[in-house]
Amino acid sequence: MLLSRLERSYADLHIHTVFSDGTFTPREVVREAKKLSIGAVSITDHDSVDGIDEGMGAGQELGIEVVSGVELSAWVDDQEIHILGYLIDHQDAELAETLERLRESRKRRAKEIVSKLKDMGMSLRTEEVMEEAGLGSVGRPHIAEVLVSKGYVKDYREAFFRLIGDDCPAYVPKLELSPEEVFAIIKRAGGLAVLAHPGLKARDELIPQLAGQGLDGIEVWYGQDETTAGHYREIAMQYGLLMTGGSDCHGAGRGGPLLGTVKVPYSVVEGLKRAKLDKAM
Ligand code: AMP
Ligand code: FE
Ligand code: FE
Ligand code: ZN
Repeated sequence: MLLSRLERSYADLHIHTVFSDGTFTPREVVREAKKLSIGAVSITDHDSVDGIDEGMGAGQELGIEVVSGVELSAWVDDQEIHILGYLIDHQDAELAETLERLRESRKRRAKEIVSKLKDMGMSLRTEEVMEEAGLGSVGRPHIAEVLVSKGYVKDYREAFFRLIGDDCPAYVPKLELSPEEVFAIIKRAGGLAVLAHPGLKARDELIPQLAGQGLDGIEVWYGQDETTAGHYREIAMQYGLLMTGGSDCHGAGRGGPLLGTVKVPYSVVEGLKRAKLDKAM
């Protein structure tokens, strides 16, 4: 694939689409990357790889490299952490089955959240939430959207702050996989496992333990200041972990950073590819 030098120089390796809780389609992600001169993106939907083929197709047309990815949740004690899988074989049948199982459990959980909200006097229907999720793995952001549209909260943030956030009354946890189970899912599909946004959810003390269990890398570049990035760069070097990063873009109106706001050197993509090859040898 022919890419200009400018386009080759940056990547954004953490992006959600309509196949989970993002608002962009995979094609829109690629178009946006093209506009911003970002040469490589990874589509990392929660519990889904369904957007990757569309992204890769658009990427071929527009000369943007699309790296396969997925974001899974794991639990250490009571703490949920997020693990990204990169360069997975997204067409692997066993992976598809596992992800389907995770998405089914998300549906059951959405029903439970709706029922808790009902007990609190808010009448949502699970069907409305599923409609909001559309093609995507259903999650709290979709419930938040319905809560906003029905006027139970004034915005998305309030929904998380008051009702469905981690410590809130209508919170229900997702299926509790261990980090080792998540690493096994990613590795079986030929991928590399990277700890997402360390510091936001995962405590630093967990990193040595995760590294011992098969973690390959950590996100160093994500919406944060240079001091924090430096801190995780040091930890990565200490434990021999790959360094990756991305914006964790969820699209418009979802409160978080947007595509391209975190610019990762393209060499990170090359590092991931090299690591995958090394493992295969
Ligand atoms: P779920 O996977 O269903 O537990 O939903 C988690 C998703 O909700 C995250 O990936 C974010 O997209 C979003 N989210 C989590 N906490 C917040 C928050 N406090 N404010 C806004 N969005 C959040
Ligand atoms: Fe999300
Ligand atoms: Fe995450
Ligand atoms: Zn994410």
